[in-house]
Amino acid sequence: MSATATQETTRKYDLSFARWVYQNVEGGDRLSLCMQCGMCSGSCPIGTAMDNGPRKLFMMIRAGMKEAVLTSDTIWNCTQCYNCVVRCPRKIPVTSILQSLATIAVKQGYAPQRPTAKFSKAFWLSVKRFGRTDERLVTAFYYFSFGLKEGFRRAMENLPIALKMVKAKRMHLGLPHRAKGAAELRAIIAAAEAIEARDRREG
Ligand code: SF4
Ligand code: SF4
Repeated sequence: MSATATQETTRKYDLSFARWVYQNVEGGDRLSLCMQCGMCSGSCPIGTAMDNGPRKLFMMIRAGMKEAVLTSDTIWNCTQCYNCVVRCPRKIPVTSILQSLATIAVKQGYAPQRPTAKFSKAFWLSVKRFGRTDERLVTAFYYFSFGLKEGFRRAMENLPIALKMVKAKRMHLGLPHRAKGAAELRAIIAAAEAIEARDRREG
């Protein structure tokens, strides 16, 4: 094998990746029990909208295909319906694994341009600040995460829908509503983030 081919292979297959996933991904410790039966992918209502589906993704983890796994749209398109979890004969927490992989993909810089990642970030900003989602804020954060020009274009394109929602009283005008206990929620989130950071340092 040429040096270039060896480098290419090393990039595509990180043989320590499966062990890393078993130890660092929520629910990953059960992944070695997967028997590749395909019940998860077969049960998934949006399997056709996924590039790989959970069964294949778990095989790719075993094969050490780190980059392909962390850039797969399977981890982003999962709607967390838990169909697969209920049906998995090995009781593998498929949903938690996919969700945890998405978080890792963001932290490791594999998902900066994913629309779903951008939307999740916008959603999270609103929940963290106000204790609830404000559709206008989430939409604005999301649209303008694509840049000023693109954000403006999207806002104008969807303005007629927004106006209809206001008319139908499905979207309010004025300041965002704040949930009761938003400050307490922020304190809980801050404590959870501190625990996560500590676990990462010690892990
Ligand atoms: S249903 Fe469970 S055991 Fe079967 S492929 Fe999916 S995760 Fe693996
Ligand atoms: S939880 Fe995700 S992967 Fe599992 S069936 Fe639902 S959408 Fe598919």
